[in-house]
Amino acid sequence: MDISVMTVLRRFIFFISSLLSTQLSAQAGLAGVELQIHHVQGQVYMIQRPGGGGNIGALIGDDGVFLVDSLFAPMSEELVSTIREVTDGDIRFVVNTHIHIDHVGGNQNLVDLGAVIFSHENTRSKFLEERSHFPRNGGSFAPQQPESARPMITFNDSITFHFSGEEVSAFLVPPAHTDGDIFVYFPESDVLHLGDVFRTTSYPIIDKFNGGSLRGTIAALDRAIDLAGPDTKIIPGHGLEIEDRDKLIEFRAMILEIRGRVYDMIREGMHLDEIMAAQPTAPYDSTWENDPGWTYIDFVPVVYYELGGAGRLEDR
Ligand SMILES: [Zn+2]
Repeated sequence: MDISVMTVLRRFIFFISSLLSTQLSAQAGLAGVELQIHHVQGQVYMIQRPGGGGNIGALIGDDGVFLVDSLFAPMSEELVSTIREVTDGDIRFVVNTHIHIDHVGGNQNLVDLGAVIFSHENTRSKFLEERSHFPRNGGSFAPQQPESARPMITFNDSITFHFSGEEVSAFLVPPAHTDGDIFVYFPESDVLHLGDVFRTTSYPIIDKFNGGSLRGTIAALDRAIDLAGPDTKIIPGHGLEIEDRDKLIEFRAMILEIRGRVYDMIREGMHLDEIMAAQPTAPYDSTWENDPGWTYIDFVPVVYYELGGAGRLEDR
């Protein structure tokens, strides 16, 4: 066999096996995880895994179960049995807040149980890509979800679900974590699920590959702060606690402060390596840097480039 063909073949086999091993090891750690269900307010619950990742919102009422996000596939059995602690109702609708695997991985299993999946059309279009991008730990790719996991119904600006006496609103926000981010508001229960635009475990994760932006993150948080009232309960995409409007304001203030610091440094002519060395996030690291997969090392360059920091290698 020709040497170059063998090299290509070998690389291909390595590529496939590394994809498989990533997927298998990721799933091995998820089987057997115990989920918890917490009553949030009104008819809304939060279903959570240890560490508080991919928090699910659940409206449970006379019409059955309406879910916001679906966690990972190996957790679906545990997800259903956790819901069964509260209700025997059918899981009818699932709305995905964005494309990441920790929010859509359980879609197919829930479809098999009769659920219908909804998402913004930008999120569904990402199910059609060959691989799925995940931003943490410097960025990686996972194999794409099967066709049956794709949202069957998509919407453009917003959609309203008339479910168990609530007019549940799911609506697109400016491109923040990804460009398909939606918020879900349960007005009668007064609960807001913000997907991964709001997290209390790290600096905001801005997935540039999937269309996220700093500017959109701030604009989306403005929208959430406008919508939330003093009694509104807020479910973050990641984080152990149920939060409120004050915590959102604190999160936005932290982002604005860091943005201002990086902007001043760029105007002073500092390059990225100098800005990193100056540690503009230092006052905030102890509060917001609890996720080793996304620290100031990941966040500050995103801020730097979006504010107009140099893109040329020698000018960085
Ligand atoms: Zn995410």
